[in-house]
Amino acid sequence: MVYIFGNWKCNPTNLKKAKEIFYTIEKNFKGNKKVHVAVFPPFVFLNSLNSEKVKKGAQDVFWEKQGAFTGEISPLMLKDAGCKYCLVGHSERRYIIGENNEIIEKKLRSCLENKIVPILCFGEREKVSFGKVKIEIKEQLKFLINYKSFKNVILAYEPVFSIGTGLVCDTSHINDVLNFLKNELNIKYKVLYGGSLNSKNCQEILEKCDINGFLVGGASLKTREFLKIIEIAEKYAKSKEK
Ligand code: PEP
Repeated sequence: MVYIFGNWKCNPTNLKKAKEIFYTIEKNFKGNKKVHVAVFPPFVFLNSLNSEKVKKGAQDVFWEKQGAFTGEISPLMLKDAGCKYCLVGHSERRYIIGENNEIIEKKLRSCLENKIVPILCFGEREKVSFGKVKIEIKEQLKFLINYKSFKNVILAYEPVFSIGTGLVCDTSHINDVLNFLKNELNIKYKVLYGGSLNSKNCQEILEKCDINGFLVGGASLKTREFLKIIEIAEKYAKSKEK
């Protein structure tokens, strides 16, 4: 199974366009057991986008179920809106909004308690030596190392220098990170790659890295491009079955 997840970030700016993107993907994706597709639109569009084939996720969540928390969206609201997944700890939330590990851990716990699968995003901020990368990643994933209760988390490795820059990460570096995770974590988590992924570079990553799929940002808003990535993933998954 290959997971293809699309993070729409703070796009598009109106429901008409959101429906156009979502239902173009929904109409053209035949749905099968080899590729699992989900999109992560802004909160306000969630209730208006519905499909059996294309699953939904949220880009963020608050850790309490309800109450006096102005501006927040709870896991119960996400469930009610049909979300199966939720992104947690995306680098744009860590470094633009200022989310820290304490907040990220609460959000992870809240998702798991409320039966939402969290996609925990992590990755080094800058191109530094692998020794430093390991220290940074270990800090970001420390609660996975300490607690086994996080076994249903999906990981998304997204080196920050690759996000939205066109600088896709080297496959050898992705493999180094995957090996590091294997050695450090006592559970085999599903791991996605994200960072400037498109239909031209996804095949190489699938072939060279032992990855479970992708978290696609910018390219997930371009329906033709996103459908192409899905098609490549389908062909790859089929070829693996032979
Ligand atoms: C992301 O925001 O999760 C992401 C991977 O973005 P992009 O594909 O645009 O680099």
